[in-house]
Amino acid sequence: MNENLKINLDPSQGRPVLCGNCKNDEFITTSKLTYFSPILTGTSKPLVVPMQVLRCSKCNKEITDDDLTTTNQATELVVENL
Ligand SMILES: [Zn+2]
Repeated sequence: MNENLKINLDPSQGRPVLCGNCKNDEFITTSKLTYFSPILTGTSKPLVVPMQVLRCSKCNKEITDDDLTTTNQATELVVENL
């Protein structure tokens, strides 16, 4: 992912991303930490790399890329799961 990438998008033209589990539309940002031992970093010190994770503010389900890419078919998916 290129963090320097800037795209001008009109929010009103998009659609809200809903939680695949409870259809909530609000998310909280948490962080996962990945630990790399000195053997892996090739230095004398271990490295801890944080990774941002989005969680549904209601049911706490982690939002994955799968959730984002299937959001457009969310209605169908939910119906199938009932
Ligand atoms: Zn949820």
